[in-house]
Amino acid sequence: MAGKPAVGLDLDRTSNLEPRTSSTEPRTSSPLTETDQNGINRSSNLEPRTSNLELRTSNFVVGVDLGGTKILTMLADGAGQVLARVKAPTQPWRGLDAVLDTIVDSVEQVASQAGVLLNAVRTVGVGVPGLLDRDRQVVFLAPNLNWRDVPLGALLGDRLALPVRLENDANLAALGEYAYGAGRGESHLVYITVSTGVGCGIVLDGSIYRGAGGGAGEIGHLTVAPGGPLCNCGNNGCLEAVASGTAIARQARALVAEGRGAGILAAAGGAPEQVSARTVAEAAGLGAPEAVAILRDAGRFLGLAVAGLINLLNPSALVLGGGVLQSDRVLWDAMSEEINRRTLSSSLAAVRVVRAELAGDAGVLGAVALALAIT
Ligand SMILES: [Zn+2]
Repeated sequence: MAGKPAVGLDLDRTSNLEPRTSSTEPRTSSPLTETDQNGINRSSNLEPRTSNLELRTSNFVVGVDLGGTKILTMLADGAGQVLARVKAPTQPWRGLDAVLDTIVDSVEQVASQAGVLLNAVRTVGVGVPGLLDRDRQVVFLAPNLNWRDVPLGALLGDRLALPVRLENDANLAALGEYAYGAGRGESHLVYITVSTGVGCGIVLDGSIYRGAGGGAGEIGHLTVAPGGPLCNCGNNGCLEAVASGTAIARQARALVAEGRGAGILAAAGGAPEQVSARTVAEAAGLGAPEAVAILRDAGRFLGLAVAGLINLLNPSALVLGGGVLQSDRVLWDAMSEEINRRTLSSSLAAVRVVRAELAGDAGVLGAVALALAIT
């Protein structure tokens, strides 16, 4: 397939690749007056696709992105316009009840900011960083929260006296980009985020694809380097073990420990413990050859996985987010080369490979979309 034209994958047009996050921030610094609300209504980036929406303006929804360090909460009207947002620390070490209190407080705060009574909220969508039983609305396992078998749906529903819908956070980030971000207008979208780990959410025919047991989308555990480094899952050579921010930092630290990688060490201020995926990217930007090599390898492995995914699913959009991909040109270029080389022409022609637009808001906007029943 060598020499095939790279149709549909114009990754060099950097002007289209910059995340457009600044204009997606709703204005919430003061209580929302009618004028403020009108201002938010003019924020085009926060207008979701509306094809499946019922425009019932007296109904509101709340989205909650429950993360290991922070809880982001937004309130939107029935048309999906975001009217208020609140950010609070999760502090999971304080225990389940304290986290529930913070979520309830956040929901009450966004309602108060927007001047909406809590009983005018029709659904609260909640993104959870873990494994769920969606039928029973139970969180099986959320390591970042130190939760096992937590009936979060029932607990929150009781406290708020509102219907609650739970969803995995990666699925909601995909849904957020689908409804509000880089995937607007697409029917088949795959979202991949590369940060400390590698996450993925799949929207097919406008619906989240979860698989038989909710385990779909685990692209981080696709084997791309048989015999490669050990992964957290117990396998060897998973994508996450060779291309995540954690893997990049680990390889760089190993080089530094061997007395190599002077450029990597310099970018970390001479302190080996400060070596991270970010400092490796900085070193690569300054031309440090060891840093460039590590990032090129990571990019190639990502490209292998992404090309396979495009060949398997024939998506119309592949949305790439997370700190590692957002910041790193070397890695992005290496990934693009592999995608161009390995993707079937027809599928390559049909897919837009783009950077995520919503940054840290993807999950909470996905939770809003979930509550609106956009999918
Ligand atoms: Zn794995």
